[in-house]
Amino acid sequence: MNAKTRQIIFERFRTANPSPKTELIYHSDFELLIAVILSAQATDRSVNQATATLFSVANTPADMLKLGTEGLKQHIRTIGLYNAKTKNILETCNRLISEYGGQVPRERKALESLPGVGRKTANVVLNTAFGEPTMAVDTHIFRVANRTRIAEGKTPLAVEQQLLRHVPKNYLMNAHHWLILHGRYVCTARKPHCPRCLIADLCEFNDKTTDSPTTI
Ligand code: SF4
Repeated sequence: MNAKTRQIIFERFRTANPSPKTELIYHSDFELLIAVILSAQATDRSVNQATATLFSVANTPADMLKLGTEGLKQHIRTIGLYNAKTKNILETCNRLISEYGGQVPRERKALESLPGVGRKTANVVLNTAFGEPTMAVDTHIFRVANRTRIAEGKTPLAVEQQLLRHVPKNYLMNAHHWLILHGRYVCTARKPHCPRCLIADLCEFNDKTTDSPTTI
């Protein structure tokens, strides 16, 4: 895909949705960090349902620790991998208090050193909480980038690096949200909705659909 085509694609995403946002509900850097940890292999909807009550009783590292293992589990047991996530969240809260004054650190290396926080989670926090132009490549972005040929790669890291290289600079801050939302609602995994796709004429996928599935 050439640079001009990428430019037009992101212009269209911006026109359709000038201020894209994460669908995770949060009110602080800490709540965002916890929500993103919980969202691994879970839907944003299921995370929002759990955090609605969790954050009403514990929205700081200290309060989360007060809940303890069993208390935290009660709030997140509807979310996949909740045992491991409980352990990681409590260890992360301990580290935030002992090493970062109870604050979420802004540095990638520090974030990635926290239990349950990998490169993708760190990228989401850096982008959404701190306004860094990072690219958190999840399953949706990986699929959309490769199908469209906006950025091709065999691994999430390869796609991340290609996106950082090829997405026009003025679109980098929001590109992560546009691509996730596009993959979640239009360029879906099983059968993409090509007939109602706003970039269908620019996308370089060879197997575009000619009819939309009835459900998304
Ligand atoms: S045209 Fe189809 S394959 Fe290409 S981005 Fe749109 S929905 Fe995805």
